[in-house]
Amino acid sequence: MEELKKWYLSKSIKFKIISAYIFSLIIIGIVGYGYYIYMNVKSINREVELYRQRLIDTQKSAVKSIVNVALDGIESYYDQYKNGEITEGDAKIKAIKFVYSIRYNIAKNMNSYNYVWINTIDGIMILDPPKPLLNGKNVWDMKDKNGVYLFREMARVIKSEGGGFVHYCWAKLGENNNKCYPKISYVGYFYPWKWVVGSGFYLDEIDKAVTSYAERKKHDMVITIIYSVLIGGIISFIAALVFYYIISYITDYLKTIGELSEKLVQEEISPSLKLPYTGQDELGSLVEHFNKFVDESYKLVVFKKTIEEDLDVNAVYKRLFDLIRDEFKIKLFNVFEVDNSKHALKHVTVYGNEKLMCKQEILINCMMCRAVRTAKDVDSFVEKEVCLSFNAVGVKNHVCIPLLVGGSVGAVVQLIFDEKEKTEEIERKIKRLKVFLKEAAPVIEAKRLLARLRESTLRDPLTGIYNRRFLDEFSPTFIATIKRRNTKAGILMIDIDFFKQVNDVYGHNIGDEVLKAVVRAITRSVRESDIVVRFGGEEFVALLQDVDEKTAMGIAERIRSQVEKTEINVQGNVLRKTVSIGVSIFPDDSKNLWQCIKFSDVAMYKAKESGRNRVVRFESSMWTEENY
Ligand code: GH3
Ligand code: MG
Ligand code: MG
Repeated sequence: MEELKKWYLSKSIKFKIISAYIFSLIIIGIVGYGYYIYMNVKSINREVELYRQRLIDTQKSAVKSIVNVALDGIESYYDQYKNGEITEGDAKIKAIKFVYSIRYNIAKNMNSYNYVWINTIDGIMILDPPKPLLNGKNVWDMKDKNGVYLFREMARVIKSEGGGFVHYCWAKLGENNNKCYPKISYVGYFYPWKWVVGSGFYLDEIDKAVTSYAERKKHDMVITIIYSVLIGGIISFIAALVFYYIISYITDYLKTIGELSEKLVQEEISPSLKLPYTGQDELGSLVEHFNKFVDESYKLVVFKKTIEEDLDVNAVYKRLFDLIRDEFKIKLFNVFEVDNSKHALKHVTVYGNEKLMCKQEILINCMMCRAVRTAKDVDSFVEKEVCLSFNAVGVKNHVCIPLLVGGSVGAVVQLIFDEKEKTEEIERKIKRLKVFLKEAAPVIEAKRLLARLRESTLRDPLTGIYNRRFLDEFSPTFIATIKRRNTKAGILMIDIDFFKQVNDVYGHNIGDEVLKAVVRAITRSVRESDIVVRFGGEEFVALLQDVDEKTAMGIAERIRSQVEKTEINVQGNVLRKTVSIGVSIFPDDSKNLWQCIKFSDVAMYKAKESGRNRVVRFESSMWTEENY
């Protein structure tokens, strides 16, 4: 049995279904026809029995009426004698002749003829057509082979009822052998001559008729069965063909889906891997789902590839923004970025409403955002007041999805829906969006990491301000900006006075601390938009945007005095340092930024020469060489 099951399961669907179909046809055939034949045979037997009864009844009434006809004939001759027309002897002879002439055959399929006989009530045979030798003989003591005294029986029936039916066994007309056949006869009585007049039919004739009737019925049944088997067979065969066609159609499609799935695994996904649509049945719906899957996977692959190739994280955010708005048709959403170093949230993009729907604090402390804190989806459809930082409870629903990379939250996408909006569709949308977000999360993280890495190569690790490499990269942008705005920039070269002494007296570490303190003093003195670069060991360049000479000199002076005022605590002592600053103006002094920087440097040396802790404006007389 186990083997058979294994074997069956290993076969194709086509084989399974068709074989199950044929098997069930055979079972239905055997059971159905078996039952049909059983019931038919039963009903045929019943019909045959009824037919036999009917036949006997009609034969009985037939022989009875024939006997009555014979009695009427006998009576008419008796009347002629009574009327004196003929003698009694002649009347008897005429009557016997008349009775002798009666021959009849009731049923078509009976091949022997019936006749009428006469004997006297006390057993003298008058007329016996099958055995004329008995005529005139006394048959009172005659028995049939079953021991029935038939003539006594006839006399008894006549005496008690005036006539009736008698069962016995007798010879047939036209047969000379001594065979006797069971028969049923009717006997009537002609009183004036004491004649018993009888006629009967033979039961074997009845049986013959009944048998042929039964055979006809059975033959009909067999023909019906043969025809129905034939017709049923043809219909089943056609049905099997149709079945086979439908199954082939389905299995071919399944095969194609399998092949395409294989291709999806092996090749790059593309919309060409879709199946032609096939109608609105289950197969059609399967194909539709498959195509949807291909479409969706393709969209996802394209999305991932696109964001991977995007320049920076902001471009990815923009792509995400377009996706949520256009593909997912969400009308209100925000994207927050977690700034890990500052534990803050940055509101990256917003769509649909400029206003932040959360408490302002989340921007300062990202742990106030439940999605960041728990690294799990926060869904107000599930629990209304799930997040205490959400401001629009009861008016809007929010779903905040954290973008996880390596278990930590890099960003949060907040989707906002109207209170009334249907949850089922939203649920579907969110599920689908999460697939995209899952793809986007590592890309965003990688881009952020890359940006941080890049940033770190452009900054000085000790002081945190930009390094010289940054100046190299930034200078073209800076020049272009100043030119575009048609403004000027102050270029300051700042050098700490007698810095070596600090190192010499307190050591390098303290020197570093002093360096940081001076940088803080410098950056505090300039605007946010100004750029301070660590140009050398303890030399700094400040690029002051949009300033004229006077302002530049003012800022330089502010730096100088700020540094001078700064008290630096070193091992219990208070240290003060000063700086010397050279100032040049771009593009007034030179259209070349690097030359301007050089000019500031020259001016700075002048400041050193003239006593340090001062600001010196570059003058062209300070520069004697042809080139810088
Ligand atoms: P001057 O007034 O002429 O500028 O005198 P000075 O001592 O500052 O002379 P100079 O500018 O030539 O000296 C620079 C010194 O700064 C040399 C070096 O030891 C020190 N220095 C440069 N970078 C660092 C740094 O990152 N940390 C420390 N602690 N010292 C540095
Ligand atoms: Mg120096
Ligand atoms: Mg110095």
